[in-house]
Amino acid sequence: MNPGIVRVHINEPDDVSGFWRAALALNERGVSPEGVVFDVAGRTPDLFGGTAEEVPSGVNSALPEARVPPPLKPLLAKVLLHADPERFNFAYRLLCRTNSTPHLLSIASDRDVTRARDMEKAVRRDMHKMTAFVRFREIAEAGCEPAFVAWFEPDHHIVEATAPFFVRRFANMRWSILTPRKSAHWNGVDLVIGRGANLADAPAADPIEEIWRTYYANIFNPARLKVKAMQAEMPKKYWRNLPEASLIEPMVKAARARATAMIEAPPTISRRPPPALATAQGSQHRGADWVDQTASLLELAESEAHCQRCPLYTDATQVVPGEGQTSARLMFVGEQPGDQEDIEGRPFVGPAGKVLQSALERCGIDRAQCFVTNAVKHFKYEPRGKRRLHKKPNNSEIDICRWWLDIERKLVQPELIVALGATAARGVLGRTVTIGPMRGKVFPLGPSEHVLITVHPSYLLRIVDQEQKKTEWRTFLADLMVAKSWLDLRQPA
Ligand code: URA
Repeated sequence: MNPGIVRVHINEPDDVSGFWRAALALNERGVSPEGVVFDVAGRTPDLFGGTAEEVPSGVNSALPEARVPPPLKPLLAKVLLHADPERFNFAYRLLCRTNSTPHLLSIASDRDVTRARDMEKAVRRDMHKMTAFVRFREIAEAGCEPAFVAWFEPDHHIVEATAPFFVRRFANMRWSILTPRKSAHWNGVDLVIGRGANLADAPAADPIEEIWRTYYANIFNPARLKVKAMQAEMPKKYWRNLPEASLIEPMVKAARARATAMIEAPPTISRRPPPALATAQGSQHRGADWVDQTASLLELAESEAHCQRCPLYTDATQVVPGEGQTSARLMFVGEQPGDQEDIEGRPFVGPAGKVLQSALERCGIDRAQCFVTNAVKHFKYEPRGKRRLHKKPNNSEIDICRWWLDIERKLVQPELIVALGATAARGVLGRTVTIGPMRGKVFPLGPSEHVLITVHPSYLLRIVDQEQKKTEWRTFLADLMVAKSWLDLRQPA
């Protein structure tokens, strides 16, 4: 036993407040870093083997916040969550050193400062990984609302510190995040931090994961694959809890061959239409009755090919007319053609088209039985090096292009139009609407025509946060299911 040593019991590995209470009391008494040992519950006693004085970490006393040196507090808030067993002693040393060197943290070459910054970074990264890679699985209990459970293995003591992120994000769900050291449980009202758990306590894969895998496979672009960057962002240790991860290795293997095939594929020849026939003025001068005289969609496409109603035709490769059945009951209206659509001359054949296609498949909607078109028929973009970056059409371009959309509607006479995004909604309705309150509901447009507004598939492609992406994907599917069920119910027996 060493009579000069003070032993402090820290009750929990992440008891940051407990540390501060004891550390500030000891610091005030002038106890040197060498004269104190922080003993975290569950750790085996160290070489000192006993104490001359025991200082509780002060469960009930208030934290004297004002006495914590300001720049040290946020730094140590992370350092103290690090898995390093010496973190409390190290943190106390830093506190003591700031007494004699108040500007210590600004000395970037100091070894303690470097170590603290590295620990802070590791903890931050671990917290970020938790927010990105937790995957909830639904569990159904008879008579209860569905609950969601996830399994996660953090490197550091971050569960309690990261749980509020999930409370904010999934406030209306009942969920638990199980980890080996601690678990977080949310019942819609209270957040409870409990004991650690085992992988076996978490549920196995659920059916929604198959949808998630289909989606991931569809948006995977082999030409953009950077294996090292991907593994740095999504280290392998997280893969076993990610439904999409089972696809990564086969897709990485196939990526080189797919990218080579993409490069070697012959360029698609631009089919720029001959000079104008349909200027804004010209086509309007044909008179309203011209619409009814348009014999077929093919004839319409031919007229559209000469469109110069607005300046967008000047940079686009070609017009992209709608395609599908003249007798379609369901019409999809997108925003405008993208890069790939502009080259191929067909709507929704690029990345957004792939998302749309996998959503249609999940909902049992056959694209071949629908009519698919856009509010604006030419690709609007901004050249950036070798790339053409999509630019949103403005209201005047949308309104001018309604001319063509209106003809498509007259020819096809769909029972239901699904407007994908705000541009499509304006193209269909002739005015700007806020999607949120209207989305996923069927509204009448006329005696036999209806509209349902949802988001554009490329919105789903742009979401970075994986959990949000999954939620939005489900909501998009739910919107399309409303469209499908509504049509099915109207189907004549
Ligand atoms: N986005 C659209 O809105 N339409 C397309 O055809 C392709 C992408």
